[in-house]
Amino acid sequence: MAEFDVVVIGAGAAGLFCAAQAGQRGLKVLLIDHSERIAEKIRISGGGRCNFTNRDLDPRAPQKHFVGDNPNFCRSALSRYTSQQFIALVDRHGIAHHEKHKGQLFCDGPSQQIIDMLLAECADGKVTHWQPCSVKSVAYSATDGNGSGSYQLETSRGSVAATNIVIATGGLSIPQLGASDFGYRMARQFGLDVIPPRPALVPLTFAGEGWAPYAGLAGLTLPVQIETGAKKERMAFLEDLLFTHRGLSGPAVLQISSYWKEGTPLTIDFAPGTDVAAALGEAKARSRKRIGNELASLVPSRLADALVDGEPALQRPINEAADRALQALAERIARWQITPAGTEGYKKAEVTAGGVDTRELSSQTMESKKQPGLYFIGEVVDVTGWLGGYNFQWAWASAFACAVALSSR
Ligand code: FAD
Repeated sequence: MAEFDVVVIGAGAAGLFCAAQAGQRGLKVLLIDHSERIAEKIRISGGGRCNFTNRDLDPRAPQKHFVGDNPNFCRSALSRYTSQQFIALVDRHGIAHHEKHKGQLFCDGPSQQIIDMLLAECADGKVTHWQPCSVKSVAYSATDGNGSGSYQLETSRGSVAATNIVIATGGLSIPQLGASDFGYRMARQFGLDVIPPRPALVPLTFAGEGWAPYAGLAGLTLPVQIETGAKKERMAFLEDLLFTHRGLSGPAVLQISSYWKEGTPLTIDFAPGTDVAAALGEAKARSRKRIGNELASLVPSRLADALVDGEPALQRPINEAADRALQALAERIARWQITPAGTEGYKKAEVTAGGVDTRELSSQTMESKKQPGLYFIGEVVDVTGWLGGYNFQWAWASAFACAVALSSR
């Protein structure tokens, strides 16, 4: 039987980085992935340019950029492996990059460069790779009362024994790229709670009469402020919105989707920073244009048409409009309320929210509090980052915390 100090299951962002870091610290590491091609999500990420981290990340305030039952869980790992450290690694490998929007860092060239970098780091750590290889079963036998024991894995390439196993199999998003529920099954097998997974950073769908006037706007993009939730739970983003054939997408909607709760409405300001009521009142005093035409100076004309279509009170020159009708229109532009029917699901979700309950894990090491030698890192854990490189930074940071802990165990 092959024997290793550590078996890492899942060769995506977190698994590759953890295997490399553990190997470079002198551990004998086996990295297993069931897919023919590893790290597919890195390859397709950031539109093929991998948004590998974000400069705007304060580890002392993780709730600013991370969602989960306990966003503070990621504070320790994020402060021990920062975005600056990952940027330094990327620089050491000579990978050219640039900053886009709000601190987001992308490769100048293809994302494959990040995969190649991680594979080179694994080679430095003398990591053994088995792929494609599926894990059929995992069993644990305790050898003494001090928490030491060993894992036996049955795989499609034979049996393996290891002191530690690291689960880095990610979430359920994009099943066609090898996503599986393996991590959640492992957690349950060893008695750990799992927060129910759900698609996040995902387009939202709409149906019914309320949506009908907007169904023809597919392809339209505009900057908006979007919000969901009330009082303490209120969350808002100022980002671009995209109308699609089935609903809404674009960064604004992807971001808000991680906070949106089924059955609740979204409120959208189509003209953030503009006092629409004042602008319409001023237009009424000076213009004889039709309301739809005046509105087109405040929002894109296709949206202006959709907002006035089917409203008899708005089918007239603006100087003839009733103040009440203009006020209602201004309210609709500044506080458009609509309730999504659902999401586009895991097929289109960039990430999976929920996952292994952080109360089950040490925030210092990522090790299970119940089960010695069992670690969970990356997206399989109930830590979900905002759009913009935060999910990869969590993968790197949780992998690093785990590797350091493994080497001192
Ligand atoms: P993954 O990278 O998903 O890796 C999991 C690995 O485990 C895979 O290789 C899979 O084959 C393997 N695996 C699964 N099940 C098994 C099993 N049963 N046995 C063996 N192996 C298994 N985040 C950013 O920060 N920036 C971006 O630009 C960005 N763009 C994205 C674009 C898209 C379209 C998508 C889908 C996601 C994007 N993300 C981005 C999110 C990011 O890709 C993930 O959060 C990140 O890859 C999670 O890393 P991970 O290692 O935990 O999981």
